[in-house]
Amino acid sequence: MTTIVKCPTCNKDVEWTKQQKWRPFCSDRCRLIDLGEWANESHRIAGSETIPEELLDTEQYKDT
Ligand SMILES: [Zn+2]
Repeated sequence: MTTIVKCPTCNKDVEWTKQQKWRPFCSDRCRLIDLGEWANESHRIAGSETIPEELLDTEQYKDT
């Protein structure tokens, strides 16, 4: 019996076997695409830490 998983990138069925070296991805390309999205994701979270100025503005609104 072979376990079938879905490729996280393209949703294609992937057989969970030793021959399938990129599992759970269907190919090296899908694996790299997923890693790339991870990198973008963490970059966006790090970038959102430049919000403090907005927080200062809302503090001012509270005072008035
Ligand atoms: Zn894929």
